Amino acid sequence: MKSLAVLHASQLVTLGGPNRPRVRAEMSELGIIRDGGMLIRDGKIDSVGPSDEIERKVRDAEIVDAGGRIVLPGFVDAHTHLVFAGNRLDDFERRARGETYEQIAEVGGGIWSTVEKTRAASEIDLLAQAKKHADWFLGCGTTTVEAKSGYGLTVEDELKILRVMRRLSGQTPLEIVPTFLGAHAIPHNRSADEYVDLVIDQMLPRVAAERLAEFCDVFCERGYFDVEQSRRILTAAKKLRMKLRIHADQLTNSGGAKLAAELRAATADHLEKTDEQGIEAMKSAAVQPILLPGSVYSLGSTGYPQAREMIEAGLAVVIATDFNPGSSPTPSMPMVLSLACTQMKMSPAETITASTINAAYSLNRGSDIGSLESGKLANFSIFDRKDYRELAYWFGVPPTHSVYIEAKRGH
Ligand SMILES: [Zn+2]
Repeated sequence: MKSLAVLHASQLVTLGGPNRPRVRAEMSELGIIRDGGMLIRDGKIDSVGPSDEIERKVRDAEIVDAGGRIVLPGFVDAHTHLVFAGNRLDDFERRARGETYEQIAEVGGGIWSTVEKTRAASEIDLLAQAKKHADWFLGCGTTTVEAKSGYGLTVEDELKILRVMRRLSGQTPLEIVPTFLGAHAIPHNRSADEYVDLVIDQMLPRVAAERLAEFCDVFCERGYFDVEQSRRILTAAKKLRMKLRIHADQLTNSGGAKLAAELRAATADHLEKTDEQGIEAMKSAAVQPILLPGSVYSLGSTGYPQAREMIEAGLAVVIATDFNPGSSPTPSMPMVLSLACTQMKMSPAETITASTINAAYSLNRGSDIGSLESGKLANFSIFDRKDYRELAYWFGVPPTHSVYIEAKRGH
């Protein structure tokens, strides 16, 4: 493979630092190199430094002139529901008229309507729609996404979704990290306990045997899966050597963050209603919080999670899109950065750390991606901006100039 030299970034935002997730003041240290450059060999970063230093080492490398634009590690989106059929336009319109998420679910909208469409869709149709979503992510400067199943809710339909993710991996440069979320909702024809048994006895063993997912997730919430049911599922997944994530404390403070700590989950996600005790529990077990301001915004709520308290407590905060058709129909990490700054009072620098290096660690990929350092994969995005703070500042304008994955142009 040829060498590549990126030259003349107004800011090469390296995120260089310790080999672990960043906390407290470290979240503001971006390791910026002005008029920065980067030498890449065989898809990996060889060195970073001032452009004139890199230029001296170039020899036969192909040159990518960043032209005074900013260069960052590709965004790592650690919470998405990438594969589903259709959309939720009717729900969207009902919410605009003032109906709540719960009211809409009662009249046949909500998760259930997406489950019906996803079950009815063929693998080919799901793949085509997922591929379109993958292109959207790349267009927003994202190079890795975590993707959850959860719109099938039968053994065959959950496996179908995970297989679509596997096929999609071969057809897009976007890196996909699969998560099994069979416990996303309770199907209409079963009791919660019956369905939990199905997830544990029939779904999890198949998912593990076919190696279709690295992580297992559960929607731990009132009306979905309670703490005891969530514990049973996640404990079974752990025995199958899957790592854990958990949808926690989104609508009620139901003990999800504490359960994540008890089970040593990699992440607890949402956390809109988490209290001080939940934060302390996560801290004691090094659980990473994944905050999803896009879903708070899209549901028309103002109850954002307590990002500042979490950063001050020393948690390695992550932000993600929660891309899904119902509550967060956005693949845009720059939009999430904007929401994190304006609604959760994170600084622009903290939002960059939370969407790159910290997100990479939450997916067990911190040693390969998430920063521009020697030895890491050359996954980077060039944005048509001069200062990294512009990513969160100019909202609603796509900033992406070009995207590279393992040194190959992906967008
Ligand atoms: Zn979610």
